Amino acid sequence: MKASQLLSPTLRETPAEAEVISHQLLLRAGFIRKSAAGVYTYLPLAQRVLKKISDIVRQEMDREDGQEITLPIIQPAELWQESGRWNVYGDELFRLKDRHGRDFALGPTHEEIITDIVRGEVHSYKQLPLLLYQIANKYRDERRPRFGLMRGREFIMKDLYSFDRDEEGLAVSYKKMYDAYSRIFTRCGLKFRPVEADAGAIGGTGGTHEFMVIADSGEADIVYCDACDYAANVEKAEAKASIGAKETALELEDVSTPAVKTIDELASFLGVSPEKMIKTLVYRTEKGLVAALVRGDRQLNEIKLQNLVDTVQLHLADDETVRLLTGAAVGFAGPVYLPKSVCVQGEEITVKIIADEEVIHISNAVTGANKTDFHFRNVNHGRDFTPDQVADIRLAEPGEPCPRCDAALKSARGIEVGQVFKLGTKYSKALGANFLDENGKSREMVMGCYGIGVSRTMAAAVEQNYDENGIIWPVSIAPYHVVVVPVSSKDEEQVKAAEKIYQELKDLGVEAVLDDRNERPGVKFKDADLIGYPVRITIGPKTLAENKVEVFVRQQGQTTLEAIDSVAQGVAGLINQEVACLS
Ligand code: ATP
Ligand code: MG
Repeated sequence: MKASQLLSPTLRETPAEAEVISHQLLLRAGFIRKSAAGVYTYLPLAQRVLKKISDIVRQEMDREDGQEITLPIIQPAELWQESGRWNVYGDELFRLKDRHGRDFALGPTHEEIITDIVRGEVHSYKQLPLLLYQIANKYRDERRPRFGLMRGREFIMKDLYSFDRDEEGLAVSYKKMYDAYSRIFTRCGLKFRPVEADAGAIGGTGGTHEFMVIADSGEADIVYCDACDYAANVEKAEAKASIGAKETALELEDVSTPAVKTIDELASFLGVSPEKMIKTLVYRTEKGLVAALVRGDRQLNEIKLQNLVDTVQLHLADDETVRLLTGAAVGFAGPVYLPKSVCVQGEEITVKIIADEEVIHISNAVTGANKTDFHFRNVNHGRDFTPDQVADIRLAEPGEPCPRCDAALKSARGIEVGQVFKLGTKYSKALGANFLDENGKSREMVMGCYGIGVSRTMAAAVEQNYDENGIIWPVSIAPYHVVVVPVSSKDEEQVKAAEKIYQELKDLGVEAVLDDRNERPGVKFKDADLIGYPVRITIGPKTLAENKVEVFVRQQGQTTLEAIDSVAQGVAGLINQEVACLS
């Protein structure tokens, strides 16, 4: 490709709207342009990267006998109603009506539609296992589309669905995909980590892992252990209960704590450490109110709480509800003498108390007294309050003991580039996807689903591979391998040498760009660095006199001199070696 013909409109300035580096660089280097919030055009360079990532994904899916299909993006509401997700998915689902007023959704994920196909076409155990996948656009009306391709509203995903006869079959399919994902991200040149995760709106109870690209700009918090291989999204990470020494229970007393609201203020006012306090958070759910108790120095994990209560809605109760429940201003709620139900706007709502495991072991704790400006001292579990349920509902934090081996947990931020789920029979049950087993008995298919954000993977690759001059593409997914730059496009000798090398590279199967633009050398070099070609071959007057050219390898930042006649061969070898290293 000649640079003069390539549509790669580079920008000198960093666009103000771009917060993260991948967004900035993909805009500046002329890979993408925004069309609407979270909706982008992929220009030729981006298209090439996406194709390379997709090709790697396709090869690894095919290697595991995945069969590629294309499912419709426009999906009838009836299927979503059948699975029960039409209401659950909420505002993230793009909904539309056809001219007859029928409801449809733009597919954010394809469990319903694939299960519909399979229930119609697959009836015998002999047809299982079945692995079907596609690489296609997905649509999610994200609350906060941001960070360019990282969180789009239209994005590219590979999604594979597995159908097995039983749990053992699912375990095999899951392992195949888990291993394939590890190979895919390795081949893309990424540093990543699989972590235990929460299933979110996809559902299923059989376990799930996310593949995280480690990067500071990641939106996910993960904790991991260096001593063993435990790693989890904090949404999911198990928190090991720390149990304080048991003390003799003292007499319950209330203390006046005027205008003291935060845990820290209370700690210094009473001279009691936050570990000895019980924080009470009141949540509203469609199943009633929940008073969640965690130790004063801990953070509640809302995802754990929501899974435990098994609700679609979970948000902090408004001040008025808290006032009605506790009879006190916000900030003084506690589990002692908390009513079992409360009347809000004429509706009787039940109240469930759920305590974190640590809370029931605090001796002589401090909590709100359900009375404005008062707290209780010497609160003890069993004598003064009895929760309806006790469970791990708090966030695990770095430094805490690993739930597997007790070594200190570490934390990192990650970009979720893929997730694998054991769905079990959630969708086959809801939609009636059954098969006849060896004995002619009808059984539900056991399913898994496996997604990779292809466009997000491109952005994640930039987040891990850049410097102050621009992108440094891993060779396996670079838009082109080499740019050939004559220092002066007016110098006939340089141009001739450049064209010769360019042609030789192409003949050797190397993807090359010839920078034939009539620009100053500085501009060409800047663009080459910004776009992130792994190798730049420069033809300048001084070296040309000795029949030599400069070879600059972007990743190492090193320049060597090579003979004109053998440079193409040498560079082709280097590229092949790099790609081989990654696979
Ligand atoms: P997130 O938690 O980041 O919103 P998710 O868990 O909802 O993602 P999945 O349903 O697991 O996403 O989708 C599979 C993959 O699709 C994700 O691992 C991610 O790589 C990609 N993906 C999901 N949402 C987006 C998005 N809005 N923009 C780009 N890629 C996305
Ligand atoms: Mg996910």
